[in-house]
Amino acid sequence: MRFLTADYLYPLHISPIKNGVLQISDKGEVVAIFKDRRSVPKDKIEIFQGVLCPGFVNAHCHLELSHLLGIADKGKGLIDFVRSAIRKRDDFTNEKIQLTIEKAEQQMIDNGIVAVGDICNTIDTLYQKKKRKIQYYNFIEAVQIYEEDVESTISRNLEIRNKFRQHGLQATVVPHSAYSCVPQLLTEISKISDEQDKIFTFHNQETPSENELFSLKSGIMFDWLNKLGASKVIWEKRNENSTKSVLTHFKIRKNFLLVHNTFTKKEEITNNYYCTCPKANLYIENTLPDYNIFDDTLLCVGTDSLASNNSLSILEELKLIQKNSQFDLNTLFKIASKNGAEALGFKELGTFERGKKPGVNLISDFKKVKVVA
Ligand SMILES: [Zn+2]
Repeated sequence: MRFLTADYLYPLHISPIKNGVLQISDKGEVVAIFKDRRSVPKDKIEIFQGVLCPGFVNAHCHLELSHLLGIADKGKGLIDFVRSAIRKRDDFTNEKIQLTIEKAEQQMIDNGIVAVGDICNTIDTLYQKKKRKIQYYNFIEAVQIYEEDVESTISRNLEIRNKFRQHGLQATVVPHSAYSCVPQLLTEISKISDEQDKIFTFHNQETPSENELFSLKSGIMFDWLNKLGASKVIWEKRNENSTKSVLTHFKIRKNFLLVHNTFTKKEEITNNYYCTCPKANLYIENTLPDYNIFDDTLLCVGTDSLASNNSLSILEELKLIQKNSQFDLNTLFKIASKNGAEALGFKELGTFERGKKPGVNLISDFKKVKVVA
C-alpha cells in the first residue's frame, strides 16, 4: 500500500483537495482518498511538491508516423503538409520506423500518458502495441476519393482491423475526414461496424479550405481534389457543413470524437466529443480553435503525430490551452484525463475513483510531469 500526497490532489470525479492523500495498492489500484493527512499512518506517507492527477489520455495520435518528425515546413497549411508526408513516407526502412515507434511510445509513457486514441493506416504499430505498455484504442483510418475504389479500401481496412483484433486490441474502422472520403465509403464504414466499436473519430474542420469546399465549392482544397481527379460526389449535393456531411451517413447511433475543429463555429457544435491538438494546429495552420465554443465535459486533447509536433506531451498541449482559454486547472486536467478516458471507453482510467487503475502524475509548477505510480 502507498499513501501519496501533494499540495493538491485532483481526483477529477470530485473537487480538488488541498493536502489530500491518495491510497493506492501495489498494483496501482485506487483504494481510498483522505481529506486529512492526519488520518494516514505518518511513516507511510509520501509527500510531493506540486499536484497529483490521474494519468493522461492522448485522445489523438498517429504513432506510426513517428519517423516523420520535422518533415514539413511550419505554418504552410494542411495541403502542403499532406503533400510533404506523402512525398517522404517511402524514404524509411522498416527498422527505422519500428525504432521511432518504440521511442515515441516511451516518450508518451515518460510524459504520464496511460492511453492513446491512435490512428492507424498500417499495422506498423502492432508489434509495439502487443507489448501492452500503454492502452490503445486503434482507429483504422479509411481514405478514398475515388468512388470506384471504395470496395478495395474497405476490405483493406477490415484486414487491418482484424489483425489488431486478433491480438485482443480494440480496433474500429473510421473515416479520415469529410473531404477525403466519398459518401459511399462513409456508408460502408457504417455498415461494417459491430458491437466492438465504441466510438468513431474523424479529422474535422482543420483548415478553412475544408469549409470552403462544402459551402462554396471552391478554394485550394477544391482545386487540389479536382487536380487529383477526385469523385465530385465528395462536394456535390453536400451543402451541409463538413461535420454534418460525415455524421449524416452513419445510421447507427454511436459516439463520435471530432478532431481539430480549428475552424468550427459555435453553431456547428454537435453533441459529441471534441478533441483539440493545439500544438499541431499551430504547426500546420498557425492558428488555434476558439475554446469558448466547446462543452468542457466533452473536450479531449491529443498530440497528433510527430510529423506535426515536436513532442508527445499532454502537459505541453495543456499549457497552450491554458494560455488561450478561461479553463481552470481542474477543467484542464479533466480535458487531459477524464474526458478522454470516457470518450474512448477506458473505464479504469481518468479519475481517482475507488477501484480504478488510472496511473498517477505529479505536476510541479505546471512545468514537469513525473510519473509516481
Ligand atoms: Zn491526425
